[in-house]
Amino acid sequence: MIMMYHGISSCNCFKINGRHLPAKEFEKHIQYYQRHFDIVSLSQIYAIRQKNIIPKRTTIALTFDDGFINNLDTALPILEKYKVPATFFVTTAPIENKDSLLFSEILEIGCAIPQKDEVQLGNIIFKRTGKYQWISEGGQSLYAFLRQQKSQEKNRLVQDWKIRYKLDEQIKKIDKQCYALMNEKDLKQLASSPLIELGSHTHSHHLLTSLSDDELRFELQRSKSLLEKITGRKVESIAFPDGFYDKRVIDFSVNEGYKNLIAVGLNSREDLSMSGLLPRMGVSCADGLAFNMVLISSFLNTNGF
Ligand SMILES: [Zn+2]
Repeated sequence: MIMMYHGISSCNCFKINGRHLPAKEFEKHIQYYQRHFDIVSLSQIYAIRQKNIIPKRTTIALTFDDGFINNLDTALPILEKYKVPATFFVTTAPIENKDSLLFSEILEIGCAIPQKDEVQLGNIIFKRTGKYQWISEGGQSLYAFLRQQKSQEKNRLVQDWKIRYKLDEQIKKIDKQCYALMNEKDLKQLASSPLIELGSHTHSHHLLTSLSDDELRFELQRSKSLLEKITGRKVESIAFPDGFYDKRVIDFSVNEGYKNLIAVGLNSREDLSMSGLLPRMGVSCADGLAFNMVLISSFLNTNGF
C-alpha cells in the first residue's frame, strides 16, 4: 500500500486549504504505522512487486506530492526521528522560477483572504459551499474548472485572477509554510538524506491528460532532467498530478524512462497490469487518525489484500 500526503505543517495552514497535515498528527500516523505495518521505500515496494514476494506484514511506503517547503522543514525531521523512508514527488518549476506556485494555491490564496462567499474566474461565478469548496452554477468546482483548461487559456485565467484578487498583497499575509514550494537548494538538502527518494510530479502540475503531445513530453522530460541533475541519481518514479492518467500518458511516461508510475485511484482494476502503475491512498488531513484508519482498512479491502 502506498500512502499519499501533501504538506506537513507546524503552523495553521488550514486557513488556506486542507492539504497540510499538522505535524503532531503526522507523528501519530507514523507511530501507528510502525506498530502495525512495515514501512519501506517506494523502490522496495516495486522490488517486492516485481519479485512476486508476499510480505508477512502489510507493507507500506509513504509519498508526498507537490514539493511544499514544509516537506523539508517539518516532515523530514519527523521521518528522521523515526528512521522512516519516504518518496517526495516534486513539481520542478520552482527550480527555474523561484516564485512559482501551484494553480490550486493561487486559487486558494485568492479565496482565503478576506473570506468571501463568491469568487469569479473568467466569466464564471463560483459560490462557497464548504470550507474549501467553491461551486459554479453548473456544478463544477473552481479548481476542477481551471485544471481542465488548455494551457494558454489557463495562464490567461490565472493572470486575470492574480490581478482581481491582488495576489501579491494577499500572499504577504500568509505563512510561507502553507504554500511555498522547494527550490533547488531545498531539494538538494532533502535528497541528501539517505531515507529520501525524489520522484517527478511533472514540471508545472498540469493535468497530463489535457496536454498536447509536445506539452506532455516537455512536462515529463524537464522535471526528470532537473531532478537528475540535482540528485545525481536516476529518477524513475512519477506521480501524476491529481492522479489523472490515460493510456497515452502511461506510454509517454514509459518512453521517457519512468518505471514506477503512481496514480491515486485507478481508472479500472485491469490497469494494475499496466507497466509499473500502482494506486495510492490519499490521507485525509481534515480528519483524525481514527478516520484515516477506516480509510486504510477500506483501501486494503478494495485492493484485494
Ligand atoms: Zn499534486
